[in-house]
Amino acid sequence: MSALELSFTRRFSMGHRLIAGSSERCAVPHGHNEFVTVTLQACTPARLDGKCNMVVPFAEAKTRWHDFIDTRLDHAFQISSSDPLLAWFIENERPGLTDLS
Ligand SMILES: [Zn+2]
Repeated sequence: MSALELSFTRRFSMGHRLIAGSSERCAVPHGHNEFVTVTLQACTPARLDGKCNMVVPFAEAKTRWHDFIDTRLDHAFQISSSDPLLAWFIENERPGLTDLS
């Protein structure tokens, strides 16, 4: 990791049902605890000038990363676009509960 990179690791919980290409156990809806690490790197790195030792403020980067995990991944349910259960979720999930697109 260079001085112009930030890495964050976050644990989250998720469920899934994998109907093809996986073990038979994953064809039954179930959950996992996962860890994901992201390394952020500036698209256009600028020279550090001594007044600031970060490409972006640490708190801002950490907050945005944690918000992404909390709102998009944690307690999400993964399902294949070819899974017949998808139609049921589209028909029965409360509007705004999840993004089915
Ligand atoms: Zn699984």
